[in-house]
Amino acid sequence: MTVSFHTELYKLIPEDHQLRKIHEVIDFSFIHELVCSSYCEYYRRPANEPELLFRLLFLQILYNPSDERMIQEAQVNLAYKWFLGLNPEDPLPDPSQLSRFRNHRLGAGAVDEVLKAVVRQCIEKGLVKSKTIIMDSTHTLAASQKQKPLEVLRDAAKRLFRVVVKKHPKLEKKLPRLPELKKDQEDAEKVMLHYLAELGQTVETLLPDHEGSISEKIRIAKAIVEDERLLAQKGILSAIDPDARFGWKSSTKSFFGYKEHIAMTEEEMITAVIVTGGSSDDGKQFKELLNQSLATGIEVDEIIADTAYSGKDNLAEMKSKGIRPVVPLNPVVHNGGLRQEGFEYNKDADFVICPAGEHSTRKAVQGSKKSGESRSLVFYFDTEKCKTCPLREGCLKPGAKSKTYSIRIVAEHFKEQIEFENSNTFKERIRRRPIIEHKNAELKRFHGMTKAKYRGLFRMRIQAILTAFVVNVKRMVKLKEQMQPAS
Ligand code: SF4
Repeated sequence: MTVSFHTELYKLIPEDHQLRKIHEVIDFSFIHELVCSSYCEYYRRPANEPELLFRLLFLQILYNPSDERMIQEAQVNLAYKWFLGLNPEDPLPDPSQLSRFRNHRLGAGAVDEVLKAVVRQCIEKGLVKSKTIIMDSTHTLAASQKQKPLEVLRDAAKRLFRVVVKKHPKLEKKLPRLPELKKDQEDAEKVMLHYLAELGQTVETLLPDHEGSISEKIRIAKAIVEDERLLAQKGILSAIDPDARFGWKSSTKSFFGYKEHIAMTEEEMITAVIVTGGSSDDGKQFKELLNQSLATGIEVDEIIADTAYSGKDNLAEMKSKGIRPVVPLNPVVHNGGLRQEGFEYNKDADFVICPAGEHSTRKAVQGSKKSGESRSLVFYFDTEKCKTCPLREGCLKPGAKSKTYSIRIVAEHFKEQIEFENSNTFKERIRRRPIIEHKNAELKRFHGMTKAKYRGLFRMRIQAILTAFVVNVKRMVKLKEQMQPAS
């Protein structure tokens, strides 16, 4: 870039401006290497394009405007232009380049490296010293509303039909037509389900080498047709955002969207982010969160988390790696008995969710305290729902008056952990856990994580990881300031 005399204007930006501090603390040049493989070497691009676009994405998450608004703001905001490394009179890229860079250049692979890059820079600067990580999850509402099964089916069919006709107009006459349904038609869902399956098969026969948006719509149609929980409104709930799921915040509050599973150091530096549908079990993400954190280069000798992470496999994993588990036990989560496939305990709501997506309606303890080993927690399901459930075979015994799911309470397997849980060290260390809740609140309150900006798990993941990157950089600035002696 040729420096113009207009850059004199940059002297107007205050020395303590947030963007000056950020520029000082983080080196963004790592992004060139991360995305270089996605650029065609014969396709000439300005050498600084990846860093310019990445800095624009950074500003967008930091200040939260839309793609178009971001470019408009950056055009006239002196501090933004300086941060982007442009002259005041330089033009900005088209807003469409932002989404292209986000989805195609960063995509699913490079975006993980972005988080690693910031944590590594923190380690190099001596900003991360603790060997403790704290884990938790938070949720983000989907960008679209949940739909009834008939709407899901009809929408998926219309979208598939439309995309095929748009790309291959000559095929329109060969595709089956959308059935006309009567008002309150009893078998409307079944008719539409049959139509979607037929449409999908026809498109696959007519276009065996389909790709791009047609493949994507066929994938969605297949997932919907094969979803046994669709008609019970427990599986796919949106044809527009089929990855979003129904989850529970408590026994009475639910949400439709995604969950972000997060690990961070005691210095509040996020080391791992996993995004799943809203219904997923927190404890199951434990191993991946730990592995992602270790891949950043940090050392881990202690993990602080809530009861959802106290499953016996997680405790065993920590033990095998010499990690101290500051994780309160929960008899339901760390059960010693056999688990029936597909049943999951939700610690926020304190109920068990069955493979059909129904949740238990009450809980009871069976067995006397004195008998110790034989005590069980029994979760009861609504048998009226079981009777019409598509998954009842093998789950509800014929003629059974109730459907229960029992978990044996086997305390002595966890004797060591129970003793540790009663120690002063445990009580003192578990007090550090709420700091991750403050981090979750920061992600939502200031950086748009309350609601997904885009649809689908792929894009939600990019949003979550880039947001974690921005929040980490903000934290770097704070930690650096704390390191400097007060003048
Ligand atoms: S039979 Fe009942 S408990 Fe079993 S999957 Fe169906 S609704 Fe759930």
